[in-house]
Amino acid sequence: MSRNQLKQKEARRIILQSDNLSVRFGGFYAIKNFDFSIPHGELHFIIGPNGAGKTTFLDAICGKTKISEGKLKFNGSIDLLKLKEYQIVREGIGRKFQAPSIFPHLTVSDNLELAMKQDKRVFPILFSKIKADELKKIEEMLELIGLKDHKNTIAKTLSHGQKQWLEIGMVMMQEPALLMLDEPIAGMTEEEEEKTGELLLKLKKRCSIIVVEHDMEFVRKFAEKVTVMHGGQLLCDGTMEEVQENERVMEVYLGRKEDNVHAKAL
Ligand code: ADP
Ligand code: MG
Repeated sequence: MSRNQLKQKEARRIILQSDNLSVRFGGFYAIKNFDFSIPHGELHFIIGPNGAGKTTFLDAICGKTKISEGKLKFNGSIDLLKLKEYQIVREGIGRKFQAPSIFPHLTVSDNLELAMKQDKRVFPILFSKIKADELKKIEEMLELIGLKDHKNTIAKTLSHGQKQWLEIGMVMMQEPALLMLDEPIAGMTEEEEEKTGELLLKLKKRCSIIVVEHDMEFVRKFAEKVTVMHGGQLLCDGTMEEVQENERVMEVYLGRKEDNVHAKAL
């Protein structure tokens, strides 16, 4: 097999796959028989109305919420149902939560350094000597997330958008194979949104990315693949064009499929 063929094969390799996945809260199915897959290096958006089960799906992947039925495989053979939250992180699944998790009183650079280390106690790290390769990794991440000029800025003084990028950078310091983000552009200015989209495009060269998002303009601009959830189930998936033309998607978003005025919002 040529190098190119090998590369293509690698790109198509599925990193995460769910089969017939269900999450039940009491008698209520938040997710029901959900099939999903994402290959290496894909930027995949999950959309759907409020309560569709999007956040619950991310919770199920990272082990925060118990899966009731079905399968969830990572990297081919790893059974995520058997792992605890910290083990799932260790396997290479990183998640940026909506609630901020930066250290507000430390500098941007120190935040990245802490995120890189397994030992999460602040003091041993701040007083230990940093190695040259670690320093290089931090510099690279500062460049990637656009915070090079803010490396010594105290994190709490960053703008809302900058804090979000720092958090993404902190998750990336663990070098995940799969990155998950839930509504990453919420509260951002238009300029920050654009920069976030550009950042996601850069990050997909390093890992697969699942983004839950409801801003359709953003999804249309940056999505490679879109999955639409509704009532805990898969409604359809495909490219944004395919999804937009799907009649069931239009019905769900609009109530009436002949309502073409609002169809533009999708
Ligand atoms: P989305 O992120 O698509 O808006 P969620 O995944 O947050 O939707 O929620 C899906 C459904 O599951 C909703 O009806 C929600 O009320 C319900 N749900 C989510 N978490 C819990 C929970 N811990 N206990 C009971 N019901 C829940
Ligand atoms: Mg949600």
